[in-house]
Amino acid sequence: MSRPLTLRRAEKYGFCAGVRIADREVKKFAAAGGRGAILGQLVHNERVVEEMEELGVRTVDSLDEVRDGTIVFSAHGVPRSYLQTARRRGLRVLDATCPFVYDVHDDAERARQEGLHLVFIGDSRHREIIGYVKDLEPGSFHVLSTVEAAAAIDWSAYPQGIRILYQTTLNAEEYEEVARVIETANPAASRTDTICYATKENQDAAVALARDPEIDAVLVIGGKHSANTRHLWEICERHKPSYLVHDVDDVRAEWLDEVEILGVTAGASTPDYLIAEVEARVQELAQRRVTASG
Ligand code: SF4
Repeated sequence: MSRPLTLRRAEKYGFCAGVRIADREVKKFAAAGGRGAILGQLVHNERVVEEMEELGVRTVDSLDEVRDGTIVFSAHGVPRSYLQTARRRGLRVLDATCPFVYDVHDDAERARQEGLHLVFIGDSRHREIIGYVKDLEPGSFHVLSTVEAAAAIDWSAYPQGIRILYQTTLNAEEYEEVARVIETANPAASRTDTICYATKENQDAAVALARDPEIDAVLVIGGKHSANTRHLWEICERHKPSYLVHDVDDVRAEWLDEVEILGVTAGASTPDYLIAEVEARVQELAQRRVTASG
């Protein structure tokens, strides 16, 4: 094919409001000469981690690694006890936790005070979930993400009631069955919709893009460890050939062979400059195709 390639971005893609604010706050801090460490990746994107390091704000895995200066809490949030621990150790705190994540902490705390058993639907290894559960009494909560896991638990053992909450970046529809298993087993179970609208908007826009009959294929840009980027790729893949790329080096010329209009979307942790770089690479490969056939 020798026709030029057109790129069409999803209506919504890339950084959500929470990440945009966190990114801006840390850059402002670094520009003012601040030096410190971010606990966990500011967002799940390797390029952002490198960029922050260049600015003098390294990424660490544990609070114990930081002896002085400022500790930055990322948009995913941390267990509330970390704030006291950091202050007790004489660290300054730059808290970039997303307000929506704080809302979930508050919802969970209210339910806990009501005596309810807590169920978090999500990934137990994800920092956001660790932030919710690390300070809780063992036995006062569950974290799960599959129907099988939900079905294996005797929910009638919690007659005081159960509150179901979601990791903010999940798609509620996909976990409906998990919540239903719990609610069916225990009529005193109820849920709070803690799904973040930003994730849903990116997902809805990705579906609309992938379903668009004019679009031949979709490129999904995002970090290797970004769950929401992978999820965007999964939902696009249901409708069109879709390719998940982390940076320009992942783009393959052969993907573009039969493509006239390429849809582009990006995970909530993908910076704008990375999207622009990948698009430039795609155009460069497409241009070579036109030149070679011309
Ligand atoms: S995805 Fe939503 S909850 Fe998560 S950081 Fe962004 S705005 Fe906040």
